[in-house]
Amino acid sequence: MTSRTQVVVIGGGQAGLAAGYHLRRLGLDFVILDAQTEPGGAWQHAWDSLRLFSPAAYSSLPGWFMPPQVGEEYPDAAHVVQYLRDYEKRYELPVERPVRVIGVHRDGVFLRVETDSGAWQGRAVISATGTWWRPFLPAVPGRAAFEGRQLHTVEYTRPQDFAGRRVIVVGGGNSGAQIAADLAYDTELTWVTQRPPRFLADDIDGRALFDAATARRRALDEGRTDTGGVASLGDIVAVPPVREARDAGLLKASPMFARLERDGVAWADGTRTPADTVIWCTGFRPALSHLAPLGLRGRRGHIATAGTRSSEEPRLHLLGYGDWTGPASATLIGVGRPARDTARDIAGLLA
Ligand code: FAD
Repeated sequence: MTSRTQVVVIGGGQAGLAAGYHLRRLGLDFVILDAQTEPGGAWQHAWDSLRLFSPAAYSSLPGWFMPPQVGEEYPDAAHVVQYLRDYEKRYELPVERPVRVIGVHRDGVFLRVETDSGAWQGRAVISATGTWWRPFLPAVPGRAAFEGRQLHTVEYTRPQDFAGRRVIVVGGGNSGAQIAADLAYDTELTWVTQRPPRFLADDIDGRALFDAATARRRALDEGRTDTGGVASLGDIVAVPPVREARDAGLLKASPMFARLERDGVAWADGTRTPADTVIWCTGFRPALSHLAPLGLRGRRGHIATAGTRSSEEPRLHLLGYGDWTGPASATLIGVGRPARDTARDIAGLLA
């Protein structure tokens, strides 16, 4: 069966919902197709102790502030899931789930969206599928030889699962630092980062990151010197658990090891560290395989865009994947503006 609407939004996480909010305001017909069984996108799968890197009010989608979480300045993932669930209800967003999009195809004036339960035709498509679903693992010599357990950020839940074990955490970003801090007390931890960890000043959090990303985009748009954006501030927000572990001297990072071996890792100087588990906190790539039938090209797994609009297929928008789809667009507070611009662009296209 094929259904028809003006706009098909793929993904019902924060980016898809922000798009829905603005499409509704402009009076467009749309549907949001989401592969999850419940609201909340990737936040449903976060590890137990994850905390937002900004207070609630600075983690809000368009139209409605995130309520504060009682007793927590930096809300946890469960709080975000509840907010997204309530947000969907509040704005009566038409989310269909679980519906997984398999492929997007050109079909005359429409784009045809094939799913695991029927097809949709839309005059425009917004892809908002996030990155959580495509964990990135770097090519490291000996990875296949290691006989212990290897997992990615997406599979990590709680420190109790690793109590007493020799764990190597790889990654100098927020995930790596938070998971290393989580494990610092009950495991024999080695934290490995490609370059020395760069903590933001303790009084700086995600609010400053958002401001920096916005200032950078403005500078680039106006032809001024690149401000360096978020990267100029540091990599790791010192949320309270990270700060505590760091101040207790438990977050000392080692440089990247040279290779994995059967029972641990070997360093460039020939020394070895035995390990039971390696946790790769090494980031994500955009989940875009459903767009493969369109044959769009870009660099490093991205698709070329002007703003959020695909440069080669003007009926397609990409929302929420990172700075390349709008400054800070992969954050709760940052996705609102590109979502608004996307909805306006589509309204113009359909007019
Ligand atoms: P997602 O939440 O991943 O939602 C995408 C939805 O699309 C999912 O429901 C998925 O199932 C669905 N989907 C995927 N493929 C398909 C398909 N083919 N068909 C149908 N549906 C599909 N941001 C902040 O603002 N503050 C923070 O503190 C913060 N902390 C973060 C911590 C971590 C560890 C990570 C990884 C990210 C963090 N972010 C933070 C960034 C960002 O807010 C989250 O990554 C957020 O989940 C991105 O939302 P999204 O809607 O783009 O993607």
